[in-house]
Amino acid sequence: MLCLSEEQSIIKGSIAEFTKRRIEPIEKRIEDDDYFPMDILREIGKNGFFSVMLPGIGVQDTYSFSLIAEEISKVSPEVAWLYVTHVAASYALDKLGTEEQKDSYLRKMADGEIIGTIAITESSSGATASAIASSARKYEENWILEGSKTFITMGGDADLYAVLAKTHEDPAAFTTFIVLKSDVGLELGTHLIGSAMKGIGWGEISFNNLILEKHRILGKENEGIKIIPTIARIFSIGAASISLGIMERALELVSSHVKERKIACKSLLSNQTVQDKLFHLYADTEAARSLVYRASINDDIRLAYSAKLFSTERSIAVTESAVSLFGATGYEESLAIPKLLNKAIAVPLHFINNAILTGLFITAID
Ligand SMILES: Cc1cc2nc3c(=O)[nH]c(=O)nc-3n(C[C@H](O)[C@H](O)[C@H](O)COP(=O)(O)OP(=O)(O)OC[C@H]3O[C@@H](n4cnc5c(N)ncnc54)[C@H](O)[C@@H]3O)c2cc1C
Repeated sequence: MLCLSEEQSIIKGSIAEFTKRRIEPIEKRIEDDDYFPMDILREIGKNGFFSVMLPGIGVQDTYSFSLIAEEISKVSPEVAWLYVTHVAASYALDKLGTEEQKDSYLRKMADGEIIGTIAITESSSGATASAIASSARKYEENWILEGSKTFITMGGDADLYAVLAKTHEDPAAFTTFIVLKSDVGLELGTHLIGSAMKGIGWGEISFNNLILEKHRILGKENEGIKIIPTIARIFSIGAASISLGIMERALELVSSHVKERKIACKSLLSNQTVQDKLFHLYADTEAARSLVYRASINDDIRLAYSAKLFSTERSIAVTESAVSLFGATGYEESLAIPKLLNKAIAVPLHFINNAILTGLFITAID
């Protein structure tokens, strides 16, 4: 653990206490019933945990943001996923928004009164954001938005959507719009159910003749693609922290299991190969921790991308190895450990897909 300031120690302690008291009791409901915990998100806001990353109205403390996402993820990677998503949407408002937009939305986002998400992906664009087809055309002083988005976290549940759309015949011209749940023309599509990461309100949304006044443009007209570099560091560190939390949980579960599991009156942990595997799991987790924390205190995008790549990939390897150490018991679907593996698999797919990350990393070192 890198040194924490007094304030960071307090934040870490209070999120751990909040997670135990408020998230742990509903974790099973989230997993089993695909329950979307909007009440918890609002409480996270009321307790001030969203405002650690809003320089416009508070502070920008990426280390605290990372510690919060990690603490939550140890108990519920799903709630951590929602936390990172909302903070990234808020950060985009903070960095790209006008004073009027900040007055209207940002304070409420910090308090959890407005929950936001980012809607970029479409079925025909996938990981390539520049291939989206949703478009907005000017109509007098307004814009008319048409199209649809898929795989959206909180798609249908969020109060506010930062939506990327084509706005010009120039193939590189996109604009980001602020769309509200209450807007006429925002339609909710199919609710999707992931094989893990339940309760994140995953779904499709579409825009049918949705009229937006020009003050709903976030950032500059035809420069909307800038939302991706704006949130790239938060997305990367957030995802890396979720994966770190998953690894820690897997390590905790497997450590107890190998001590308790007896084969021919001997604990599994007495076996040299098992000891070796456990050692590797520990080393991987601590290596990820070092990189994630380092990336969070150094404003260097290359470190953030590296933390995402390493932590998300090692998290899959660690949970997979943990499943194997649990043996047949670990393969039982109802148990936490195979679910953790499935959750680990989801993280590199999103928050800028890991395959796309390579191109961004190369651009960053160029
Ligand atoms: C649980 C979950 C929540 C999500 N939430 C959101 C959200 O809130 N908002 C949002 O906008 N999106 C969201 N997404 C979508 C996510 O960002 C996309 O899944 C991602 O962009 C990849 O798109 P795709 O799954 O269609 O993969 P595809 O584009 O079909 O690609 C499949 C695979 O091919 C490889 N690949 C694709 N393109 C390239 C390339 N150019 N170079 C190298 N390899 C490539 C990658 O390995 C990729 O995983 C979410 C996804 C998941 C799983």
